[in-house]
Amino acid sequence: MDKSKANPSIKCSVDQCEYHCLNQEYCALDSISVGTHESDPTVQECTDCESFERKKQ
Ligand code: SF4
Repeated sequence: MDKSKANPSIKCSVDQCEYHCLNQEYCALDSISVGTHESDPTVQECTDCESFERKKQ
């Protein structure tokens, strides 16, 4: 994948992710999956980007 290509629809500040755009605060994927680790989510912190993968060294 081309990590220099930002997806303008997915803003993201998680630089530690393998799919983060190289030079802009966006995701480089065409789409992502968002979910929750809670049974009854109530606040923003309850949601997760399920497409996250730790950046490879
Ligand atoms: S996959 Fe999720 S965490 Fe990773 S850069 Fe894209 S939006 Fe951010």
